[in-house]
Amino acid sequence: MCKLRLILGDQLNYNHFWYSEKNQEDKFYLLIEMRQETDYTLHHIQKITGFFAAMRSFADFLNKLGLQVIYLKINDQNNFQDLEKNIINTIEKYSINEFQYQLPDEYRLDIVLKKISEQLLVPTKVFDTEHFLSERLELKKLFEGKKQILMESFYRNMRKKHSILMEGEQPIGGQWNFDKENRKPISKKIEIPKPEIFFNNVNDIYEDILKCGCNYFGEIEPEKFSWPINRNQSLELLKYFMQKMLANFGTYQDAMDANHWNLFHSRLSFALNSKMLSPKEVVDTAIEEYVINKDKISISQIEGFVRQIIGWREYMRGIYWWKMPEFSLLNFLNHKNKLPEWFWTGNTKMNCLSCSIKQSLKHAYAHHIQRLMVTGNFLLLAMVNPDEIDEWYLGIYIDAIEWVEITNTRGMSQFADGGIVGTKPYVSSANYINKMSNYCTGCFYQADKRHGEKACPFNSLYWNFFATHEDKLAKNPRIGMSYITWNKFSNEEKKLTITQANKYLNEINNL
Ligand code: FAD
Ligand code: SF4
Repeated sequence: MCKLRLILGDQLNYNHFWYSEKNQEDKFYLLIEMRQETDYTLHHIQKITGFFAAMRSFADFLNKLGLQVIYLKINDQNNFQDLEKNIINTIEKYSINEFQYQLPDEYRLDIVLKKISEQLLVPTKVFDTEHFLSERLELKKLFEGKKQILMESFYRNMRKKHSILMEGEQPIGGQWNFDKENRKPISKKIEIPKPEIFFNNVNDIYEDILKCGCNYFGEIEPEKFSWPINRNQSLELLKYFMQKMLANFGTYQDAMDANHWNLFHSRLSFALNSKMLSPKEVVDTAIEEYVINKDKISISQIEGFVRQIIGWREYMRGIYWWKMPEFSLLNFLNHKNKLPEWFWTGNTKMNCLSCSIKQSLKHAYAHHIQRLMVTGNFLLLAMVNPDEIDEWYLGIYIDAIEWVEITNTRGMSQFADGGIVGTKPYVSSANYINKMSNYCTGCFYQADKRHGEKACPFNSLYWNFFATHEDKLAKNPRIGMSYITWNKFSNEEKKLTITQANKYLNEINNL
């Protein structure tokens, strides 16, 4: 009775029970690098390289455990480049009697695997990935029929359910949320740790990718690849974050800096999303660090970090499995504009966008506020079609997997879901960017100007956005203030602002 166990590229859970089972003689583990995966969207070269490198390391780990591994590299002659064909071929070749897989995180693959299973001549058994703290439909069960889905309620529920940062029924520190204390810009005095702590040589994988001829974009230094590609490196990065960054994480989580590309952010998203690290161990390690170092790490830092992992991350997954596939088509604000061409190069005079895009092309990474309040903010104000926006975010970041990308992009950032993920559109004028970063210093545009020569595009586009969507947004209690302010503008001021916005929208590729 031979079993074939499929392991997808984002299912590299070193602690899954599969690998510690006894009697492995009848089990074959299949990992495949495929054009189906490199080609479903245009990916950053570091994303393709990172996943292949992590998969190859995982196969080494399984081999060292003495397990039977079938690994198809991207240029292998016997690789059909298609999941279904590869599975059928392996089943025939190894006389397999049962096909097994772990629940995929992407809707696309869920459908594909169900379809493949139906067509196979052998039975299929499905397992959990043992990664998340909540189940696929847990959020749906919690909120179905309720007026509003609120991340904060979900998060509190998770804290209680898993007894995380709790003293009995009460949150440690007496508050659930310390967000208000976590909004400081970087000060000159603060020392910022270097982001990279190790460099991998992934030249062989990079060469394989070049040889296979798939399309990609972005930059890579294949001899200095700084993302973790195995569990030990993931743990090393986790430790580094705990020792060097956690104490400042909350305080500066909204800050941005033209000279530092990740500040106090963990860069753990790739290790988490590929499952080399589990969210539970990340949270437990952070809390241990907090308990030992309470003199250095305040509750607001640790709470801010824990909320991202057991709050936002699990919440996004819950929304995804509840609302897909319809979610991927939502366009509440009916935005239709094209993505500016400079999103693929970073060549714009707008310094905040130029820095955020160029660092994304260089590192396949931008931290949350750069994604939300610079690139996402601009695209929402420029009324760009969410389909194009999703494609860009899904391709450019090393951590981009649809379940967490689309909910953040179409939902949180673009409000294309009309308020499922968040309660209001995340938009701002130059004021916010100027307050939270040093981008505006030295920018071609002037942050304090709404119209006229060199007026910062964020300013006119911001008011134009509210004016355009008054019918859909004016009644939202969380943004009523913006309309009160807008309506205080004189007619002349309104006219100048809208004219300026239209001018910028018409020449968007030249901004
Ligand atoms: P840190 O700031 O150190 O946070 C720690 C961890 O918390 C992250 O590793 C991540 O796992 C989790 N986390 C934090 N915020 C979120 C969030 N909003 N949703 C889910 N998890 C969160 N995250 C992805 O993992 N993949 C994506 O494709 C992705 N696309 C995004 C697109 C947009 C437009 C926006 C606004 C956000 C997106 N995010 C995405 C969420 C967030 O920006 C990244 O998780 C974070 O920047 C990763 O960097 P980090 O590991 O240094 O995070
Ligand atoms: Fe960005 Fe405007 Fe500031 Fe320039 S002035 S960096 S475009 S917010």
